[in-house]
Amino acid sequence: MTKTKILDFHTHAFPDKVAARAIPALENAGDIQACTDGTCTGLLHSMDQAGIAKSVICSIATRVEQFQPILEWSQHIQNTRLIPFPSVHPDDPDHMQHIREIHKQGFKGIKLHPYYQDFFLAEEKMTSIYATALECELLLVVHTGFDIAFPRIRRADPVQVDKVLQQFPELRLITTHLGGWDDWQEVERVLIGRPIYLEISFALEYLKPQQAWRLLTSHPEEYLLFGTDCPWADQSRSLKQLRELELSETLFKKILWENGTALLE
Ligand SMILES: [Zn+2]
Repeated sequence: MTKTKILDFHTHAFPDKVAARAIPALENAGDIQACTDGTCTGLLHSMDQAGIAKSVICSIATRVEQFQPILEWSQHIQNTRLIPFPSVHPDDPDHMQHIREIHKQGFKGIKLHPYYQDFFLAEEKMTSIYATALECELLLVVHTGFDIAFPRIRRADPVQVDKVLQQFPELRLITTHLGGWDDWQEVERVLIGRPIYLEISFALEYLKPQQAWRLLTSHPEEYLLFGTDCPWADQSRSLKQLRELELSETLFKKILWENGTALLE
């Protein structure tokens, strides 16, 4: 069997000092156990174990002031294996300028999270963010669906994904958790089969294998991306879950490597 190269499009890591307190706090909030110590070293170790060549690290500015420290840390840690996506807070009065700065510094994308950043995906205040990301040709990874650590308010459901993409059809929006965590009936109703990027983390373990297989094989092949949400899922185990679906070799390779690397070019 030929060895497929693997890119994990959705991971998290923190500065070493931050990790030591952020990981236990997040473990508590989500009632979940982390699979790494939350540092880049821990992530690289997990990648080595799982045979993952590269990981996108999705940072989230939970406060306006975190833009700069996240940007600086992202510059500091980026290398051939770790690809950081910085973040801006939607309430940052300088968010347009800050998005342009992220682009100027050579980063490929940004990450937003509706629960940690208190927004609704399709609300008015977000349009200048989408417009600026589009202008800069930045990828926009956004948490979609419900979140394990928050009340079930529809902040970023498939209907809102559709609304945003109707307004910004050229925007390279990457939904996470197979289009919307724990809202996969809606995903199937609204998103599946359309040219919308779905990153698959934290989904296969919740779906029946037949349903997971159906969703993945009913979607355009170029629009599926492997992701794990590590440390909130184990990279090796996530890979095993995908492998067990026995997708075609062509689709498997596209999900694991080809689609993601094409986006990062
Ligand atoms: Zn995540």
